Amino acid sequence: MKIAVPRMGNLSLIIRDLAWRLGLETVETPVFSEETMEIGSALAPEFACLPLKAVLGSFVQVLELGADTLVTGGGHGPCRFGYYGEIQRRILEREGKSFRMVVLEPPSVGIKAFHDSLRSLLPREHVRLGVLLNELARTMSKVVVFDKLEKRAMALRGLETEPGATDEALAEAQGIVSGAYTRKEIEVARLEAEERMRQVPVDNARPYLRVGLVGEIFVVLEPFFNFDIEHWMGRRGVVVERAVNIADTVVPMGRNPVFGYTEQAVAQAAEPYLSHEVGGDGLLTVGASVIFARRGFDAIVHFLPFTCMPEVIAKGVLSRVAAELDVPILSLSIDEQTGRAGVETRLEALLDLAWSKRKFVRGLAESRARA
Ligand code: SF4
Repeated sequence: MKIAVPRMGNLSLIIRDLAWRLGLETVETPVFSEETMEIGSALAPEFACLPLKAVLGSFVQVLELGADTLVTGGGHGPCRFGYYGEIQRRILEREGKSFRMVVLEPPSVGIKAFHDSLRSLLPREHVRLGVLLNELARTMSKVVVFDKLEKRAMALRGLETEPGATDEALAEAQGIVSGAYTRKEIEVARLEAEERMRQVPVDNARPYLRVGLVGEIFVVLEPFFNFDIEHWMGRRGVVVERAVNIADTVVPMGRNPVFGYTEQAVAQAAEPYLSHEVGGDGLLTVGASVIFARRGFDAIVHFLPFTCMPEVIAKGVLSRVAAELDVPILSLSIDEQTGRAGVETRLEALLDLAWSKRKFVRGLAESRARA
């Protein structure tokens, strides 16, 4: 059995770690490219949202690389994602591909459902729930460390004094954590990795903007689709924080250890604007935008795949959030036709606006102090 899973941020790190622990053979899914999108767009229904087309394209590519078992996520709630595994299976079979599709329910939905869906992939000695939970808990704790390191990198990149120093430190820190197996080794590796990140030289006196990233998980996490916004912002001296993280999605009970606000806290923040679940990451988009605004962020970028229903609802609500909490929010709708130049021009305008607002507010405070 040669297993492949779709790419999505640090998901590949989770899979690699789990495969190592459970003795599974995996085939690395290629990074997203123009070619992936051409394949996916040709096979998928035109009205389907971007993740379906992108994952479909990458499944074709990874089957050609020798994978025979495709693993994808299930879903629940009012979003089409839960149907995508089945749709992709039918399309690929129609194209004459030979493979097995396994749809995994996320652990956050329930460990039993997750275990049932994972069972068919596991070697006999790991089928027992206790063994699996033990290994899963270790992988989860590593993923939280990976995501926290990324969060740190986004905070440092805009302030680094040596271009590339943050990325170099991040790669080393990830390498340190990757090799850890037991809980104790993971904890030692975490401390060592955090120390490596502290060595990045930064200029704390340099003025900088803070920008929050919200939106649909796939587009927010995959640099090919968000035009590598984290590095783009970092090169312009912007400190970035993401509301969406793989660890927060897979760690059960809505604790969101990386974003730092529980699902309950997010729902409470969103309440005045959106008081119920709309599927996907819609509620998180609204709640996190409110949280970023209250924390004094200078701007928010909202990514939504074209035709994504949950994010379209969130977009409608965000205009009120922006007006009432006085924070600029830029919503970017992304599909296979979206061009880099158009996105970058709008991002540049957003940063100009945020700097002007900062100067205006400071000028106002100074004139009040003089009066
Ligand atoms: S959240 Fe939006 S983009 Fe993601 S699968 Fe659901 S409808 Fe599609």
